[in-house]
Amino acid sequence: MNRTWQFTALSAALLLLAGCGQANPAPASVPAESAGQAADSTTAAPAAHWSYDQEHGPAHWAELETGFSACRTGQEQSPIDIEHARLVPSPTVHPVDIHYSTTPVTVINNGHTIQVNVQNKDNYIMIEGRKYTLAQFHFHHPSEHQIDGKNAEMELHLVHKSADGQSAVLGILIHPGSDNHAFDQLWSHLPDHESEQEVPLADPIQLSKLLPADRHAVHYTGSLTTPPCTEHVSWTVLEQPIELSAEQIQRFATIFPDNHRPVQSVGSRELYTEQ
Ligand SMILES: [Zn+2]
Repeated sequence: MNRTWQFTALSAALLLLAGCGQANPAPASVPAESAGQAADSTTAAPAAHWSYDQEHGPAHWAELETGFSACRTGQEQSPIDIEHARLVPSPTVHPVDIHYSTTPVTVINNGHTIQVNVQNKDNYIMIEGRKYTLAQFHFHHPSEHQIDGKNAEMELHLVHKSADGQSAVLGILIHPGSDNHAFDQLWSHLPDHESEQEVPLADPIQLSKLLPADRHAVHYTGSLTTPPCTEHVSWTVLEQPIELSAEQIQRFATIFPDNHRPVQSVGSRELYTEQ
């Protein structure tokens, strides 16, 4: 095994563990092109290393790998600025139907975020009659979505997949406020350093306690906010934020000072709310 192959394989593994991009990656989901690069280390470039810094940051993602081209050419990218003046009340939109339970989880610092992988398939949301099962959730600092031009301190993304492979992400903005004890166990086990090792938490997490009480939301069609920026993602951003204390936010910010993608053009997309 030479160093190029090692780098390629490691990068492929990291990509699979990335932020919004993946729902509980399994070896079988390795993209064909990544497998091809790993097998042919003499001619293929190493799999792209993307980040949030200048050189490999959001403005350059599309240049890093051909598979990332949607990050530049996509017409329905995320995140976006949610302008209230643009919201379209729709009779077919209802408050999001969330079915979360108490679930064992593992935690990993994948170099892009802290990701929490749920260990059963008991948690799901219903959107327009389609069932999406929760695979993982993770955090961004500062927030990725803006509300009327302003970022929040942080954002929680809960990533779901339907049986036919469609993605739906539930986004929840995080504001500074009271200590949020629902996050205590997780926050006391935030891994400071990137690792391929998932760490199981001792106690299951009551997922519903992570959410705000109000389920009114803005719905739009967007993308993964991390490479490869794949589109056709159903986005639901809850109107009501949750709170973490300034100390809790600082704890995450120490590990990830900035892991957000800037807002993308809304274009001709409609942002729907309930009537
Ligand atoms: Zn995300």
